[in-house]
Amino acid sequence: MATIIANACLSPGCAKEARLQCPTCVKQGIHGSYFCSQDCFKSNWKGHKAVHKKTFRAPVVTENDYDPWPDFRYTGNLRAHRRTPRRAVPAHISRPDYAEDGNPRSEREMRGFTQIKVLEADEIAAMRDVCQLAREVLDEAARAIRVDVTADEIDRVVHEATIARDCYPSPLNYCGYPKSCCTSVNEIICHGIPDVRPLEDGDIVNVDVTCFKDGFHGDLNETFFVGRVDEGSRRLVEVAHECLRLGIDLVKPGERYRDIGNVIQKHAQSNGCSVVRTYCGHGIHRLFHTAPNVPHYAKNKAIGVMKPGHCFTIEPMISAGSWKDVTWPDDWTSATIDGKRSAQFEETLLVTKIGCEVLTRRRDHNGKPYFMTQ
Ligand SMILES: [Zn+2]
Ligand SMILES: [Zn+2]
Repeated sequence: MATIIANACLSPGCAKEARLQCPTCVKQGIHGSYFCSQDCFKSNWKGHKAVHKKTFRAPVVTENDYDPWPDFRYTGNLRAHRRTPRRAVPAHISRPDYAEDGNPRSEREMRGFTQIKVLEADEIAAMRDVCQLAREVLDEAARAIRVDVTADEIDRVVHEATIARDCYPSPLNYCGYPKSCCTSVNEIICHGIPDVRPLEDGDIVNVDVTCFKDGFHGDLNETFFVGRVDEGSRRLVEVAHECLRLGIDLVKPGERYRDIGNVIQKHAQSNGCSVVRTYCGHGIHRLFHTAPNVPHYAKNKAIGVMKPGHCFTIEPMISAGSWKDVTWPDDWTSATIDGKRSAQFEETLLVTKIGCEVLTRRRDHNGKPYFMTQ
């Protein structure tokens, strides 16, 4: 288990080490209102002061006394926990354009463009390389997962494994995201931010890893079992994985991106599950997220026909109950609206002349996911 080094700044997208506490919160006994600077405190005052409306809060001492959003109604049992300060990337590692200020400029310039890049041979070679490195990083994360390990510790493992391969962890500071991977537990659909909550027996946790090397990104995720998982969760995770496989089976030149969602939703629904609609697969190469947009739900209007040299992800998020999502006040964590569990699998794919190459594929265990070989 990782120790808590310090509190992180409450300002969205900041996550610097924070020692200043909101004086009103201190007076009212509200825990966890830390900011890194007067500037962050002032710029968040409008949103933050809502916390003060309750004039008295009895001090409740629990295992997790971190309660940054007293008025937020969580949809399930999972709660936000403290985060550790941002991790550093050594100076010799080359970074994407957003690494310093969080602004993915080159991606934003391309927003609205639907034309899909066809990669040249040398670009495909670079994608193969970074995608296999990302797979190795996920391998290391997989080995770290067990009861009582914190998501923050998994993030540390991912961060260290990424920089050990001379890669930059693509999520870090992407639009201000504070950590090096996403860890989405139980009812979290995606973009869960690693914090100091220890994983519990029976949890499911998705770890989403993206590496950046020599100008290219490689992106994959898997959902893992923590200890002994109930039968319903086991089936949910299986269905999510089957949905990804069915999507991949469709990939070949001439197919339409919009048809992927049809096969995925059909399979999810026939197993009593639903497909999240807010988050989609995406083109990926020199940009982390770009054309094509790849919805996982049926009857979508995605633009584009597959051609050799296209690179993109399929990453269906499959929920046990409603497909609807709610975003936590951290502006990242996406939870199911009914608090039921959600599972996801992702691979980065290359369209080849005859079909599809899974660039992030697991090379051992016949490519089987970890939950089958755990
Ligand atoms: Zn991903
Ligand atoms: Zn992705």
